Amino acid sequence: MKTSQSIWFNGCFLPWAEANVHVMSHALHYGSSVFEGIRCYNTPNGPAIFRLVDHIERLYESAKIYRMDLRFSPADLVEACRATIRENRLHAAYLRPIAMRGISGFGVAAPVDGPVDVAIAAIEFGAYLGEEGLKHGIDACVSSWHRAAPNTFPTAAKAGGNYLNSQLIAMEARANGFGEGIALAPDGTLSEGSGENLFIIRKGVLYTPPAAASILVGITRDTVFELAGDLGLKIVEQPLPRELLYLADEVFMTGTAAEITPVRSVDRRPVGNGGRGPITAALQEKFFGLFDGRTEDRWGWLDHVHVG
Ligand code: PMP
Repeated sequence: MKTSQSIWFNGCFLPWAEANVHVMSHALHYGSSVFEGIRCYNTPNGPAIFRLVDHIERLYESAKIYRMDLRFSPADLVEACRATIRENRLHAAYLRPIAMRGISGFGVAAPVDGPVDVAIAAIEFGAYLGEEGLKHGIDACVSSWHRAAPNTFPTAAKAGGNYLNSQLIAMEARANGFGEGIALAPDGTLSEGSGENLFIIRKGVLYTPPAAASILVGITRDTVFELAGDLGLKIVEQPLPRELLYLADEVFMTGTAAEITPVRSVDRRPVGNGGRGPITAALQEKFFGLFDGRTEDRWGWLDHVHVG
């Protein structure tokens, strides 16, 4: 990992090595952090952070679910994200804002007015599931781990603790030679990957599991809804049976890190012709076109950061 020089930490920039928290932090023991992953793309008009305001809004929603008071306004953190790119003179980067409970004693129930640290780090970052994966697709498997039931850990919150489940899914998949695992919801219908939402194409229709299928409602997922609409594709958001994966013409996964990554096989069965399908390629074209000017940003998704 190529690190940046400075991390925004509670309102100031600190050198990377000095942005530390205490070993007795509540977040470390009990998973009480909320965070975001945001990409900054190097566009013809300079670096631009993709859907920054939407990501910061989701950060506040995650914090609200966990009664966490960030003590900065959303506008403060939007500006702090831009400043982190500028301060580190980055162009294409992955931003990681995180809010975490600090030392609040040993109690699991953190005092509502207990300390919360907010940090924003940035790293240079390429394709999460590999450049090859973006072009030719990854091999995925259905995980033996399920996503959490809706009345356990709310998956609408992007909270640190939720990623223990994601770690089991991703690590099992990698240990068995797969690029990614696809988890089922508690009711056995399809949910999502360890860090990506799932899309299936069959007979020209785009299917994706609904929010109730224990997914994090992804911002890239929403982006695909918009781009697919532009391509005249029908989108169906409904509970989906596992076997649809094996009968699909195309499968792809979406996420800030994964962008739009085709899936070329599931459980060693080829998806469609065993490579990237034409609709996935068309969506990728539209998506990546946002960052090199081929797709007009009529949604105002690009937040231009002027690096001096
Ligand atoms: N699901 C999970 C579990 C994730 O961690 C992510 C990545 N944030 C996603 C879906 C995709 O969300 P987004 O498109 O907003 O990055």
